[in-house]
Amino acid sequence: MKPETNLARLAQAELEKEEENFHFKELLHRKNPVEVDTLVNHLNAKIAPEIDCTACGNCCKSLMINVTGPEVEDLSHFLDVPVKDIKAKYIETSLQGDMIVNTIPCHFLTGTRCNIYEHRFTECRDFPGLHRSGFVERSFATFMHYGRCPIVYNVIERLKVELGFINNPA
Ligand code: SF4
Ligand code: SF4
Repeated sequence: MKPETNLARLAQAELEKEEENFHFKELLHRKNPVEVDTLVNHLNAKIAPEIDCTACGNCCKSLMINVTGPEVEDLSHFLDVPVKDIKAKYIETSLQGDMIVNTIPCHFLTGTRCNIYEHRFTECRDFPGLHRSGFVERSFATFMHYGRCPIVYNVIERLKVELGFINNPA
């Protein structure tokens, strides 16, 4: 079954499945978190490569992206723009004192594509983080992207089937 990538259908599903997802999160908290991580990591490894992020770019319209010093330097080399100018144009300091990209949507998004894709920041590469452990404890934050990120949506829908929460719709 092909993953769902239509963003309008995801947004609609988020509304229609609000109660279902509430109960699914409750179920997740009763499961062994290590076993959930194993399943999520497996589903993510299968589903994420089937979704073309360069044809989506939806997270780039809503995420606040933290940036490190070495990443600013890498971007400076790539764009051939001095570090101080990169910082002046694209970066600001968060209330916590961290460097962040200073616009949402991100400066570097053109249409659905990142125009620094090979040099995008670690936080961009890691999102939505379903290759990591700690899915259950991060479930509140992850479910916030259910109606926005096709990877999150499809992994969660498959997880519902794998855990017997819903029947396989196929
Ligand atoms: S740097 Fe690229 S991948 Fe990261 S948020 Fe901006 S447009 Fe998206
Ligand atoms: S991580 Fe999710 S929201 Fe971001 S571009 Fe990829 S599929 Fe779209």
